[in-house]
Amino acid sequence: MRFFTLTDYPVGLPDRTLFTLETQTLPELDEGEVRIRNRWLSVDPYMRGRMSGQRTYVAPFELGKPMEGGAVGEVIASKDAHFKEGDLVSHMGGWRDIAQLPASGVQKLPNIDVPEQAFLGVLGMPGMTAWAGLNLIAECQSSDKVLVSAASGAVGSLVVQLAKAKGCHVVGIAGAEHKLEWLASRGVEAVSYRNKNAEELERAIAQASPEGVDVYFENVGGICLEAALGQLNEHARIAVCGMIGSYNDTAPAPGPSNLSQLVVRKARMQGFIVADHWHRYADFLDEVGPQVAAGQIDYQETVEETLERTPDAFLALFEGANTGKMIVKL
Ligand code: NDP
Repeated sequence: MRFFTLTDYPVGLPDRTLFTLETQTLPELDEGEVRIRNRWLSVDPYMRGRMSGQRTYVAPFELGKPMEGGAVGEVIASKDAHFKEGDLVSHMGGWRDIAQLPASGVQKLPNIDVPEQAFLGVLGMPGMTAWAGLNLIAECQSSDKVLVSAASGAVGSLVVQLAKAKGCHVVGIAGAEHKLEWLASRGVEAVSYRNKNAEELERAIAQASPEGVDVYFENVGGICLEAALGQLNEHARIAVCGMIGSYNDTAPAPGPSNLSQLVVRKARMQGFIVADHWHRYADFLDEVGPQVAAGQIDYQETVEETLERTPDAFLALFEGANTGKMIVKL
């Protein structure tokens, strides 16, 4: 198999040279193991945390060992009764072309008529994150005015569409012009954060959402959070999903100057990790799966090709080079 390892823990934006492609001959399959030819690899912002060398909610990548991540592939050999050659599966043995894993870490793809790679994006971990954050953490209701940062990304693009489907007024923050256009095409008020300070961004949000913000789905942090805090309505809920804007910082960024708005607005801000809500995956799939299959949810993908380009795809996430889910096609 060919796989990527990390040679050192980066400080700041990871250097491309820290990712090394290595080759290894796989041992014979043990009882209870499956061998999978990966067809699609996921690269996700949370992987930056695994490159920090410190345990967060998941252990860091081990230097010199195969990196891990979501992947979809085809079973090519099996010594487990539940899997046979040809089965399409998802698992965490990404960043490599062939994965050999205990069957307990492998799931057959659900029987929904969508392209297989959708289970890395809109019907996989990012989709589940959007659904859980909006419904279980922010407790979003149809009357809510909703604000979403990184709104055209893998998580954000489903958040805005689920909120629209509930009947909410939705504002999305994004960078590039084509992302703003995509948001507008889904009936979302689009606001760019580019070339703005927190005050200017807050003014743009106020214009796009004159009745304030009841739910803020936080993916970015920094000036997005500061601007959102200034526009909160009473009893607003902030679902803190991630803060990608600071993942490559080498020193802690100063906190939002207006955090006290949480007090004034009697608002609630709550972080969450999608893994804690995974027991609700079947509910998510029941609700969102048919909408995706019927084409009611528009999910974008940005596709890099070949295993060699996996680190480039990952690094491009921090430049906003993706619309929707960033994936690698092998
Ligand atoms: P995205 O598909 O949204 O890709 C990242 C996007 O973030 C980029 O396209 C870019 O969009 C934006 N971005 C990158 N750097 C910056 C920056 N410095 N300032 C502002 N925007 C930036 O990624 P995901 O949908 O996979 O993840 C979104 C967030 O959700 C991340 O914070 C991630 O860590 C978090 N997450 C949390 C989970 C949990 O369990 N809590 C699970 C999954 C994801 P643009 O062009 O608009 O700037």
